[in-house]
Amino acid sequence: MCEASEEVYSSLYRQFKGELLRPGESGYDDARIIWNGMVARAPGLIARCTDVSDVQSAVRAASAAGILTAIRCGGHSLAGFSTCDGGLMIDLSRMRQVTVDPEPRRARIAGGCLLGSIDSATQKAGLVFPSGVVSHTGASGLILGGGTGWLTRRFGLSCDNVEGFTVVTADSSVVRANSKENPDLFWALRGGGGNFGVVTEFEVKLYPLTSVVLAEGLTSESGIRGLLESWRDFMAEAPIDLKWNIDLRLAPHTKKVPIELRGLPVAGSSLIWTGDADAGHSYLQRALSMCSPESVSSRIVSFLELQTMADSDFPHGRRYYTKSGYFAYLDDGTIDRLFEAVGTIPSSETQIELAYLGGAAARISADETAFGDRRSPFILNLLANWSEPSADAGNIAWIRGIFNRLRPAMTPGVCINFMSADEQDRVPEAYHERWDRIVGVKSHYDPNNFFRLNQNIPPRKVVARNS
Ligand SMILES: Cc1cc2nc3c(=O)[nH]c(=O)nc-3n(C[C@H](O)[C@H](O)[C@H](O)COP(=O)(O)OP(=O)(O)OC[C@H]3O[C@@H](n4cnc5c(N)ncnc54)[C@H](O)[C@@H]3O)c2cc1C
Repeated sequence: MCEASEEVYSSLYRQFKGELLRPGESGYDDARIIWNGMVARAPGLIARCTDVSDVQSAVRAASAAGILTAIRCGGHSLAGFSTCDGGLMIDLSRMRQVTVDPEPRRARIAGGCLLGSIDSATQKAGLVFPSGVVSHTGASGLILGGGTGWLTRRFGLSCDNVEGFTVVTADSSVVRANSKENPDLFWALRGGGGNFGVVTEFEVKLYPLTSVVLAEGLTSESGIRGLLESWRDFMAEAPIDLKWNIDLRLAPHTKKVPIELRGLPVAGSSLIWTGDADAGHSYLQRALSMCSPESVSSRIVSFLELQTMADSDFPHGRRYYTKSGYFAYLDDGTIDRLFEAVGTIPSSETQIELAYLGGAAARISADETAFGDRRSPFILNLLANWSEPSADAGNIAWIRGIFNRLRPAMTPGVCINFMSADEQDRVPEAYHERWDRIVGVKSHYDPNNFFRLNQNIPPRKVVARNS
């Protein structure tokens, strides 16, 4: 154990109520592992907090020792920011309480929750919180980065539905942020990531919903261009009850896929309808019929099934690399390049994901939250997913190559939730004209950049010191 983590351990061990795990101790190896198998690091100390005062103690001790500190909620940072070598990991996985208040349709969510813990608690009251599409993702990282999912068009981003935050800031004080108290911090936390402190609680809005209509279709290679054109034009006029995501990939070798398509480039369409089910069935069939699908299904699914149906596609421990961007419009040249890209995909789990934002998320004005672009509705995520370290270079090069080819048609901007670790130079792009304001909030709450393992917004003092 290095000197600094020894110092943190010594100052914590008498007062800390949670677990303190050091290398070699029982439980340490499980606790240090995060979701992306590309990021295998060994913190000098893991402080698994039980409550706000544990978080305060950990921040105070780490700050005094000057140790590099990572904050871990669900450990799903694609970039691997929730761990570090030799430093301190503040682990919130014991803080997973969700308190639902059905009548005003509100909940309080602790800072270590996974999406699944929120969904199970809110569904008991027939309510939902709009979040992401994989239930083992951490809620804190997702909400602080914006948070898109099945319900974004209907109810807005996750961060649009937060009414208050409780935060332990870099000086270890507990600060509340909402529209009345510390409104600048409230603004910055809705999209600004982990830059401002450890969020120990979110106060959020909920909505009544227990099931949706789900339709799925598979389009063979020859229909991909036509599908993308239809989707582009259709979504511009679509009601907010409809969400339609497309994945370009090699068809898996599973029973659901017609035998003649397995292993070949395909486009998978997943559509949900959140409104009246009868209206939804016919609307979804109409949408799907435009895309010459080889196979189609449509059924009512419970919200909990919807929220877990992609869980096994993104298992812990595999190797992942991603790049993301926005398009204002998917022009024909971009569609051609996407079509060419799917023919060169290097591994069977790799996907080109396309989603259309708009709806409730686009009704929030650009300056209301720190979250980036709401005007460019087409979101692209290139997500490589493989298992062998020997395939790292090939997969990463493939993502970079496709991204560079598509980049000229993109509008500047990126959702920080889908950034890799080598993209720190794109962080200002994520905030556009909001950059100076967000740097100001960072400079006020974290002038020494204690919280720097994130899509980092350097405070003014640190920039001045380094220049
Ligand atoms: C399988 C998978 C599915 C995904 N699906 C979606 C999706 O549908 N929609 C979407 O928007 N994103 C999605 N993402 C991206 C995801 O939102 C980000 O990776 C997010 O950062 C993960 O949150 P986490 O809490 O698990 O991350 P962690 O790795 O624990 O932390 C990520 C970052 O958040 C900071 N952080 C974590 N907890 C706190 C806290 N309590 N206070 C302050 N800072 C904190 C950390 O310091 C770190 O910088 C997905 C990612 C994966 C791996």
